[in-house]
Amino acid sequence: CGIVGAVSTRNIVPILLQGLQRLEYRGYDSCGVAVHTAGLAGNPAGELRRVRGVERVADLARQCEQEHLQGLTGIAHTRWATHGAPAVSNAHPHFSTGPRAAGAPEGERPGRVTLVHNGIIENHDELRAELQRRGYHFVSQTDTEVIVHLVDSLYDGDLLAAVQAATAQLRGSYSLAVLHRDEPQRLVGARQGSPLVLGLGTDGKEVFLASDAMALAGVTDQFIYLEEGDVADLQLGKHWITNRQGERVNRPVRTGQAMS
Ligand code: GLU
Repeated sequence: CGIVGAVSTRNIVPILLQGLQRLEYRGYDSCGVAVHTAGLAGNPAGELRRVRGVERVADLARQCEQEHLQGLTGIAHTRWATHGAPAVSNAHPHFSTGPRAAGAPEGERPGRVTLVHNGIIENHDELRAELQRRGYHFVSQTDTEVIVHLVDSLYDGDLLAAVQAATAQLRGSYSLAVLHRDEPQRLVGARQGSPLVLGLGTDGKEVFLASDAMALAGVTDQFIYLEEGDVADLQLGKHWITNRQGERVNRPVRTGQAMS
């Protein structure tokens, strides 16, 4: 339903939560936020962490505070369930912890990829069956979870390339925001049949992503609207957009009030 993402030099959890609050009017049944903790004091390498809930964004904010969730890069989501009941296990952000060798113990393993998704993946059954054959273990009933494992399975050190390869296999509609554990200050977005907009920070470094410019009204008035098939690569102080053919493209920067 709603997506917000950010790459910054400050803790972005308050920005993500405020963005979700601005999208609440659209309705939702659950919500969540995930961050990369690299760069915070005492945690140079960092990890992916998330907080999810089936209550209001205000409750999610309290939970984030209790769990001291902080990060310089992050994504957040309000979900309007299409596949799988409204439940914490189905709430976004979803994680992939990678494939598991046959007979390996369950146990907690660190997240390698995390993402949020708006829309519907029509070929989720066949993608899930293929990923299960390759050792991926599914923990939700969503169509979205196939995307996170697909990105993980295609990742070879470059998140942009992995998202481009993954989206080439998806049928249906999506806007996506994706993070990888090994690339702390990078956020990749993609859109097809569902809107996504970039926001450029006033300091020339921060970059934001949202399903609706309204979500970013508090942080910037400089927006770049992605077109169908675009994939966006957001890093501190830079952003690139590629079209469906993988060619680098320029999209106009629009200044002014957020349009919805
Ligand atoms: N189809 C996805 C799900 O059910 C995304 C729904 C949405 O757009 O919020 O989890």
